Amino acid sequence: PPPAGPLPIRRLQESLINRIAAGEIIHRPASALKELIENSLDAGSTTIRVTVKDGGLKLLQIQDNGCGIRKADLPVLAQRFTTSKLTTFSDLSKLVTYGFRGEALASVSHVAHLSVVTKTKDETCAWKAQYEDGELTPPKSGQTADPKPCAGNDGTTITVEDLFYNTPTRLSALRNSTEEYARILDVVTKYAVHNAHVSFTCKKAGSTNPDISTPGHPSTTVNAIKLLYGGMISRELLEVNASGSNISRPRSHSSPKKKGKRKASDMNLDEDAIQEDDEEEEVTWKAEAWISSANFHAKKMTFLLFINHRLVDSSRIKRACEGVYNGILPKGTSPFIYLSLNIDPKSVDVNVHPTKREVHFLDEEQITDQVAGKLTAALANVNSSRVFEYQT
Ligand code: ADP
Ligand code: MG
Repeated sequence: PPPAGPLPIRRLQESLINRIAAGEIIHRPASALKELIENSLDAGSTTIRVTVKDGGLKLLQIQDNGCGIRKADLPVLAQRFTTSKLTTFSDLSKLVTYGFRGEALASVSHVAHLSVVTKTKDETCAWKAQYEDGELTPPKSGQTADPKPCAGNDGTTITVEDLFYNTPTRLSALRNSTEEYARILDVVTKYAVHNAHVSFTCKKAGSTNPDISTPGHPSTTVNAIKLLYGGMISRELLEVNASGSNISRPRSHSSPKKKGKRKASDMNLDEDAIQEDDEEEEVTWKAEAWISSANFHAKKMTFLLFINHRLVDSSRIKRACEGVYNGILPKGTSPFIYLSLNIDPKSVDVNVHPTKREVHFLDEEQITDQVAGKLTAALANVNSSRVFEYQT
């Protein structure tokens, strides 16, 4: 029966609040892994080794050879909103790294057992630390929580064990470890294509044969696609490099005074004004893509979308890219598309929650149209050159 009157409002326990917040960021093993890979890439790694047990629910380990973490930073590493990547609010608009809110490791520590072994090149040994709920924790009772010296190479190994051990509902929703492993392989595959210069491996714990293994430098994007998606696709790939910069839109804060300044910049009188004006009036974008030609089609679309080097979803861009193939591919079949789009970080809404893989950015509609237009032109070009070859 419903209560007769209002019940008192109480604050949730701190640990529960943190667990709920963490669950928003870490949905499943693959979303944890995505964050960890991005951290390794931010650290300048050239090799990234992923080891998985039970679809990542039992164990998710990622070993990199990046810059490592300074010992002095280990105590705050897993606290919420601690980051080495963002110091002022204005930095938000210049973001070049993946992370910026310092939430990934904190989140992991609230829903799993987290341990870190790390060594910077200046240290003589590696340091091992364990975390629970954002804080260092003793590895065994009777020991201190302080990081312990240990053997290790330069770089960082992050070990995530028993993911969602304290959120049983989440855990029971993820019982299928085969499916979770498939999602993990998908994330590693996509980052390995986008970062062909980095060597990736991904394997199940105890297995000697990795399921994914890429050579890294000096491999190229197209080679990585060949290796990871197979020869069928690779024989039919077109490269598209495109950019656009002619989008202008009125900004609410641009004053008439700026207009006057613009004249000066048009006449090249004032370098600073040019710069400022460009920033005011224009959004530039650059795209690098590898797309399948008319000779390739698959039942399901393979779509890899990176915006500013972050693996994201955008149903708008996906639909537009798939639409490019309307009338080119047989009905009910789909292309392969890898699209790396770089747009001015100022026009991406970085405050969109990091887990919202679905991104939005300024001038999204125009940029999408322009990108789709370039893909269409690239496809048309090939088709006409094929015909030409055939005729001669
Ligand atoms: P963010 O990436 O948003 O800064 P994270 O919680 O993912 O937040 O990481 C916190 C900090 O830990 C990073 O800013 C970085 O300094 C450090 N870090 C995490 N992973 C690594 C790694 N693999 N190598 C070097 N430093 C790392
Ligand atoms: Mg991060």
